[in-house]
Amino acid sequence: MSARPGAPAINRNLPDVAVVGAGAFGGWAALSLREAGAKVTLVDAYGPGNPRASSGDESRLLRLSYGPREIYTRWARRAQALWEQRQEEFGTRLFYPNGSLRTMSADALAEQRALFDRLSVPYEVLSPDEVHARWPQVDFSEYETVFYEPTGGVVKAREAMVAASEAFMHKGGTMKIGHAKPAAAGGSAPLTVDGKPLACGAALFACGPWLPRVFPELLGDRIVTPRREIFYVGSPIDDHRYRWEHLPNIADSHTYTAADVDYGTKIAANLRDVPMDPDEGDRMASGFLRAQVEDYVARRFPGLVGQPIVATRVCQVELSDNGHFIIDRHPDLPGVWVAGGGSGHAFKMGPTIGEYLAARVLDEPGDSATDALFALASHKARTHE
Ligand SMILES: Cc1cc2nc3c(=O)[nH]c(=O)nc-3n(C[C@H](O)[C@H](O)[C@H](O)COP(=O)(O)OP(=O)(O)OC[C@H]3O[C@@H](n4cnc5c(N)ncnc54)[C@H](O)[C@@H]3O)c2cc1C
Repeated sequence: MSARPGAPAINRNLPDVAVVGAGAFGGWAALSLREAGAKVTLVDAYGPGNPRASSGDESRLLRLSYGPREIYTRWARRAQALWEQRQEEFGTRLFYPNGSLRTMSADALAEQRALFDRLSVPYEVLSPDEVHARWPQVDFSEYETVFYEPTGGVVKAREAMVAASEAFMHKGGTMKIGHAKPAAAGGSAPLTVDGKPLACGAALFACGPWLPRVFPELLGDRIVTPRREIFYVGSPIDDHRYRWEHLPNIADSHTYTAADVDYGTKIAANLRDVPMDPDEGDRMASGFLRAQVEDYVARRFPGLVGQPIVATRVCQVELSDNGHFIIDRHPDLPGVWVAGGGSGHAFKMGPTIGEYLAARVLDEPGDSATDALFALASHKARTHE
């Protein structure tokens, strides 16, 4: 069969690569690897953007403020440029630039300002009255100052993963629905899919919250997967003030919101760490969180009081021990890589992560400090008491 028009030629000097997981890590990595000329098979048990995946909700937030963690500010800035390019390329809107408002302590504010000044990232420090003058629909009257970051915005989540996998296939990548497992060292292939060996030179396991299950000895104590619940609050039919065109996202001390991108105002409930099984976990939202969401609406968005919850989503985050991503070669399985530990902030970075992972798997020279930050050796296994 001849190659698809526009598909990169396969470079025979590169390893054939299997990527397991079509989420923020694997979906973008597969696309970048294919664009680099590798022959790539992307395997997902349930499909790109499926409702069990951490990348499966409607939307995710893109912010550049990461306190002192400069690497993520840089990666998020790069990601924003890539989201803008990719939505043009895919012909579908994925990024909505509405900025964000954050509450933070005086020390955190000073630290954030210093980093943004050094990197020339725009910001403003506003009084509650200034916030009210610009966005009368939000109330921050209990704070002295609010940090406003005009860059960043909302990215579509589920739709982005579907679009990335379609672009991947269009460029000649192979997508398989199947259950992948690492094979024992020394076998004919580094992995099996639905029990059959899949021969390849490198296998990247980007299984998100399933990683502790796929590699229990290596990652069972390095990643935990607590439950998270999201509520979407509707607006009155003729009230557009809560849409992204008119309102930034909000990062509060115990919750965050995304402005309405055709789905209602998104409010993350503040849930204590309840373990969640990504395969079997119940995806019905908990009724007891309704009061918490309504209290928050009354405080921050008084104009939405009494409006209905129009949708809910339940998922899990995959928290590493220190909040940094985990990206490394498997120490005992030749050709096998692990990538994940998104820790509640990886979705926005997807296009940047994809570039980085492709370079790592293809053995291109990179930044050793970044590699070390994500290395398994930098992540401690949690101790059980
Ligand atoms: C409620 C919530 C809010 C969040 N908010 C933000 C935010 O505002 N901004 C932000 O940047 N990030 C946010 N995050 C974090 C971000 O969504 C995740 O870090 C990111 O989506 C994780 O991507 P992943 O590729 O590691 O995992 P996933 O998206 O879960 O992808 C893993 C994929 O692997 C597949 N898979 C697993 N095991 C196998 C197997 N054995 N064989 C085949 N396939 C397999 C699964 O089907 C799945 O599709 C949030 C997360 C949650 C839960």
